[in-house]
Amino acid sequence: MKYVDEFRDPAVGRKLTDQIARLTEAYMKREKRTRPLKLMEVCGGHTHAIFKFGLDEVLPDAIELVHGPGCPVCVLPVGRVDDAIYIATQPNVIFTTFGDALRVPGSKLSLLQAKAQGADIRTVYSPVDALAIARENPERDVVFFGLGFETTVPSTALTVKQAKAEGVDNFFLFSNHITIVPTIKAILDSPDLQLDGFLGPGHVTMIIGMRPYQFICDTYQKPFVVSGFEPLDVLQSIVMVLHQLDERRCAVENQYRRLVRDDGNPVALEAVTDVFQLRPFFEWRGLGSIDHSGLELKEAYAAFDAEKKYAIPALSIADPKACQCGEVLKGKLKPWECKVFGTACTPETPIGSCMVSSEGACAAYYNHGRLTTLRRPTTGREATT
Ligand code: SF4
Repeated sequence: MKYVDEFRDPAVGRKLTDQIARLTEAYMKREKRTRPLKLMEVCGGHTHAIFKFGLDEVLPDAIELVHGPGCPVCVLPVGRVDDAIYIATQPNVIFTTFGDALRVPGSKLSLLQAKAQGADIRTVYSPVDALAIARENPERDVVFFGLGFETTVPSTALTVKQAKAEGVDNFFLFSNHITIVPTIKAILDSPDLQLDGFLGPGHVTMIIGMRPYQFICDTYQKPFVVSGFEPLDVLQSIVMVLHQLDERRCAVENQYRRLVRDDGNPVALEAVTDVFQLRPFFEWRGLGSIDHSGLELKEAYAAFDAEKKYAIPALSIADPKACQCGEVLKGKLKPWECKVFGTACTPETPIGSCMVSSEGACAAYYNHGRLTTLRRPTTGREATT
């Protein structure tokens, strides 16, 4: 299949892994370095590609992939799930959501459990579906659970504009949209995590372009390569990061040229800028409150803001004690190091959000058979960190 098969060619993959092995060995030797190179794949889509295609098993021990926070469902805090359930259970409400948010546990219930108890909660594939439901049900209030990074924000923005243009007054947005750049900055400022380079999020960059990442090189001197999601994309991006390290330079580079333009998508950005503004701060699961990392509707669209219509509890609620999603999201723990991974916490019985979403790191490990590492002793590769 065009645009798929050529990015999964095993012969090319072997050449790239050989190149990675050579570059890594030379770098480690020259720098007299004993601890592994830590490269963060920001996006959950990369995490899944890595485990689905077994890329982690063909990389040298001297490269450690750290799984980043680029899974919007995973970083949704418990309090916001509770707020969503609060709205969904108000009289006369039809609450619409993407399917992967349904099973994220709140403090008492998930949306799926609230639905089982009678709330009118419907799965949609886009905000446009939610707007259609609003048109069909003028006597009901239809709320769309807006989730996602910059990749999904434009479709929400355009839908809100459409609702305004049509005068649909029973459509509301519960915005949990977030932005990637402040999050990467928060990770770089974390003393816990010393990263050597990044594989940047391809789909987000398709919207925002390359420029917003320049500070990562200018201020933090870390290589940043925007990567596609097929196995050869990921391997080639690692080669590009290694070349930068080898040449002692640092740049924002684009491996995903077949989709990502340097300037992003100006039409999408214009719609986002028209409809949304940055919140002063927003809470993330595991990462705490991050300044200017969440999006809310501008005053001109306040009539569509579910947070203005409903007095949501807006409480900050801690994760369950057993849950170590925070450490996983910060890259401090591997999923199999969580005490409940694969036992009390599975995709069927998730305790934390990282096991729910199709982009979550715990789900990636579980679904792609990394259970053999379930009780792996922290020796060997880890001993060199
Ligand atoms: S195994 Fe479950 S509880 Fe543990 S970090 Fe992963 S999702 Fe959270």
